[in-house]
Amino acid sequence: MNLYEETKFLMKKYQISANKNLGQNFLIDENVIQNIIESAQISQNDFVIEIGPGLGTLTSQLVEKAGKVIAIELDKKMVKILQERFSLYSNFQLLNEDVLKVDLKTLIEKENTQKCPVKIVANLPYYITTPIIMKLLEEKLPMQNITVMVQKEVADRLTAIPGEKNTGAITYCVYYYCEPKQMMLVPNTSFIPEPKVNSEVIQLNIRQNPPVQLKDETVFFKIVKASFMQRRKTLLNGLTNAGIISKEKMREILNKMQLSETVRGEDLSIEQFAQIANELDINQ
Ligand code: SAM
Repeated sequence: MNLYEETKFLMKKYQISANKNLGQNFLIDENVIQNIIESAQISQNDFVIEIGPGLGTLTSQLVEKAGKVIAIELDKKMVKILQERFSLYSNFQLLNEDVLKVDLKTLIEKENTQKCPVKIVANLPYYITTPIIMKLLEEKLPMQNITVMVQKEVADRLTAIPGEKNTGAITYCVYYYCEPKQMMLVPNTSFIPEPKVNSEVIQLNIRQNPPVQLKDETVFFKIVKASFMQRRKTLLNGLTNAGIISKEKMREILNKMQLSETVRGEDLSIEQFAQIANELDINQ
């Protein structure tokens, strides 16, 4: 049975129809599964967290290749299938939870007793891609890399170089924590049901050291987020309207950095954002 037939078979056997509200698009392309496994360089020494295992297509490869797999799935119907498929694997553990509510740091501390390299792998539910990525990064989990399928347009934003086109606040956050890479373009025909958009496998390799030095990370993230909140606004208006800084002080900083008063957030490099954050005493 190929993956298309297997997926159809499982959906029929368990009377499943894909739940759009949960972002369910099941992978049916063997090459894509292989690309994800190879990109993540999964070995018996790895502790893998899979987000949204669904029917278990990717999971079936992960349990064979990884030391341990913890799968987090919200949909009870999927959980029943996954329990039946993988109950014989002693290296498999399943959590029926909303990944956004799981205390991942404690989970890793408790379950990764051998301190193996932690890797996150997923064909992500697209409706919550950004909150999931932000959670993984901001919680500073002790992980080596994140290898995930996301929609193409989001992949471009997540892997863009700050200061170039196609950026958003998340570009700067990802770049601060990771070295991002695009791995494989995936057509919408690789899924059941077919999503409207194309997808891409991307990898975020966690940096050992951040690319810029910050006095206070929270100030940096606050100004990055505020300046993309009102995209068409200038940086000056964006940050002053958000109540982060006075116009006078912001003009002084722009002047010192030889930046025009009409500059926008998306024009700035990560170094320039860092400089603004470091110039700002937000508590004053
Ligand atoms: N991994 C499977 C595959 O590649 O065929 C399914 C991927 S599907 C794009 C996304 C999966 O994430 C679905 O199984 C969905 O039920 C699950 N999901 C959606 N929201 C979730 C959440 N908040 N927490 C955990 N899993 C979630």
